[in-house]
Amino acid sequence: MSGQWQGEVFETHEISLTDERDFAPKRHLQFVQGQHESKARPSRKWRAGVLGATGIVGQRLVKSLAAHPWFELTAVAASERSSGKTYAEATRWHLDTPMPQAARSLVVKGLEPTLDCDFVFSALDSSVAGTAEEDFARAGYPVVSNSKNHRMDPDVPLLIPEVNASHLDAIRFQQAQRGYTTGFIVTNPNCSTAGLVLVLKPLADVFGLERIFVVTLQAVSGAGYPGVPSMDIHGNVVPFISGEEEKMETEPQKLLGRWDGRRFVDAGLGLSAHCNRVPVLDGHLECVSMSMKKVASTEEVREALRRFEVDPEIASLPTALRHPIEVLDDDNRPQPRRDVNAGNGMAAVVGRVRECPLLDIKLTLLSHNLVRGAAGAALLNAELLAARGFIPHHGKSSVRRSDQGSTVTEQVSG
Ligand code: NAP
Repeated sequence: MSGQWQGEVFETHEISLTDERDFAPKRHLQFVQGQHESKARPSRKWRAGVLGATGIVGQRLVKSLAAHPWFELTAVAASERSSGKTYAEATRWHLDTPMPQAARSLVVKGLEPTLDCDFVFSALDSSVAGTAEEDFARAGYPVVSNSKNHRMDPDVPLLIPEVNASHLDAIRFQQAQRGYTTGFIVTNPNCSTAGLVLVLKPLADVFGLERIFVVTLQAVSGAGYPGVPSMDIHGNVVPFISGEEEKMETEPQKLLGRWDGRRFVDAGLGLSAHCNRVPVLDGHLECVSMSMKKVASTEEVREALRRFEVDPEIASLPTALRHPIEVLDDDNRPQPRRDVNAGNGMAAVVGRVRECPLLDIKLTLLSHNLVRGAAGAALLNAELLAARGFIPHHGKSSVRRSDQGSTVTEQVSG
């Protein structure tokens, strides 16, 4: 499948990445040429911790890290309910595949920022994420967060690499403002915003956007575990998700806006969102109407979405897809059950592109809330941060195995 690193046969060619950061190692990442992508493979894996590792998003991260070519899972943390137990004892495992063997015996820690890792993912409940993420960043850990707490902070990048990688320039400013040394916080957007903005990006670039009206049909897994009580959602629709409409009306402004060196400048879009919880396990469906600055036919919109291709730096990241938007022509697609795993859960799937009698164009989109909207988004963000030298290696580390026949050439200094 396009954009996947698992199981591909690679040839190699080398490029070097310049690194402006004082603390960061000088790196010569070797890029490996797959059938569809160039994928970089460092000689030494970065050691990752997962805060909130026992939760529904944390488990997806734990699963993905077990087979990741750049990262290895070395620490897990959660609440007092879980700390002191092994990960296998503490976790009610929700995924279809077995719990990774390497994770089973890790002892779950609390939220003291003393974990044995180079950086942390945060999949913490928002009641604790805000303070915990700041504690870790202050203690020198890069924090790659899923939680809502810091998304709209004026110095925190809200990141979708395919959309606004330039917002990482705010990290230096954040570190200076907050007195952080090697630590910082970078966040991914809300799960329904992630799919929406990925689809809006090429349309904003090609036609310009003015107003967006969106109605969501959001899966129950978006509420974590155990989430919505079964008697509330079985055979029902709940037309309210606390705080969701506000997130969908603000986060796209930051994502599609720009960093001017001192602050984020909003995209200036008109946005209105209606958010509904529906009895679907995974996958948020969104019905979107929009007005655009330039007149475009439905075919031109489909073509702009189909042609959307990320730049080579992003395409080289292990979790990235070169074409992250899939456009379907069938009138009855996308559907959560059929399409949620498109692009290994990292694609936004678009269908029903048609004229809108009120605004200009309307369409339906689907994205995997736990992958594109959470764990996969955080992984991709961490990969970009690592590739750009924002994640220093600390102290002891296992030497990476040479895998899938590729040579390893990263040199670490400083
Ligand atoms: P979840 O299943 O409820 O998991 C929450 C995690 O936070 C668990 O590991 C839990 O540990 C830990 N936790 C709760 N209270 C704690 C405390 N007082 N101290 C330390 N750890 C504590 O939630 P989730 O769906 O995985 O979501 C995790 C975060 O990602 C949330 O902030 C959520 O808003 C965000 N997010 C979720 C989605 C989604 O689709 N689900 C998408 C995007 C973003 P214990 O097991 O020990 O209680």
